[in-house]
Amino acid sequence: MLSKRASLLKPSPTLAINAKEKELKAKGIDIAGFGAGEPDFNTPDHIKQAAITAINDNFTRYTPVSGIDPLKDAVIDKFKKDNNLNYKREEIIISCGGKHSLYNLFQAIFQEGDEVIIPAPYWVSYPPMVELTGAKPVIVETHEDEDYQITSDILKRFINKNTKGIILNYPSNPVGSIYYRENLEQIGKLAVENNFYIISDEIYEKLTYDDYTHVSIASLDPAFKERTIICHGVAKTYAMTGWRIGFTAGDAIIIKAMGNLQSQSTSNPTSISQMAAIAALNGPQDSIATMLGAFKKRRDYLIGELISISGITCYSPKGAFYAFPNFNNVLGKTYKGSVIGTSTRLTEILLEDFHTAVVPGVEFGKEGYLRLSFATSMEIIEKGVERIKNAVASFK
Ligand SMILES: *Cc1c(COP(=O)(O)O)cnc(C)c1O
Repeated sequence: MLSKRASLLKPSPTLAINAKEKELKAKGIDIAGFGAGEPDFNTPDHIKQAAITAINDNFTRYTPVSGIDPLKDAVIDKFKKDNNLNYKREEIIISCGGKHSLYNLFQAIFQEGDEVIIPAPYWVSYPPMVELTGAKPVIVETHEDEDYQITSDILKRFINKNTKGIILNYPSNPVGSIYYRENLEQIGKLAVENNFYIISDEIYEKLTYDDYTHVSIASLDPAFKERTIICHGVAKTYAMTGWRIGFTAGDAIIIKAMGNLQSQSTSNPTSISQMAAIAALNGPQDSIATMLGAFKKRRDYLIGELISISGITCYSPKGAFYAFPNFNNVLGKTYKGSVIGTSTRLTEILLEDFHTAVVPGVEFGKEGYLRLSFATSMEIIEKGVERIKNAVASFK
């Protein structure tokens, strides 16, 4: 019999939708896929070359569990250069992807009796990962007409003596929203006053649009930095999702505990991927601008088309590569004689009858919305948008 822990755990819904999309594609059905949570670009050549060199140099054995020093130094340089944050080697750990960084961090700091504040819409993995530690996720709703901000007035209502942390993700998956600087200040002050951690997931830091530039909450005040643990990685910035390298910066005691967890579970992240990540962080950065240029064009087109559909609104993402349109006005309509009702049902209709793959908002804690990734070709976006328009037009 399965453990209670394992039997309660659902697979990641985004990965599940990718699987279904692949299944339909394998049957020869032409699916317009907006499901992907990864750049559709290839890993830049100089990064791949660093991995090939690592293999040829036989850099293929165990490395230190928490990552090799040259990679930690590259991470330290990144934080210095991009965020004006100073970390020492013992405040950095390399893990097997950003998801693994977050998982180990939660295991290191959360336990039964703790409460962890998660603003919704949230990244799908935060609540289950918090639950796996025995702690309780406390979901705080944020709203499209307030730019998905969380203010101290809202936050205060959810803070109590059991509050152990808040998880911030900016730019965010699934919305592409960010936090205004003054709100980050307020959140930081509350964390200091109430002695809880700020988990700052900054994996989309470099993927920003228009005049928005990322500011890490840790950089706003040394007291905030003390309470902040930054989770980050190379997956999204350098189109390296398959390489599995994430990194964490924060208090040395926490980082050491994460290392202990790693030493009893995965051991070091792949030696070859670590060499590739050094090339990514230290090498030429022009691939980011190329990717961003394409994402920006697609964003502008996709958002423009979505909001042209009667009844649909959509936050204009400041970063990442997702659109999160509001389909609440459509859910009350009927399709083939029955009321659509939920974002999950809408997603099924779109996939099965209109061959378009999206992710239901409810999986991110926001019913009535859909998540569409625009990390896919313009051709697919054009085709998919046309199909969504046809679908909506067929609803009564
Ligand atoms: C993709 C993603 C991650 C981590 O990705 P990895 O592939 O595990 O490095 C972490 N947080 C958010 C919000 C993400 O979208």
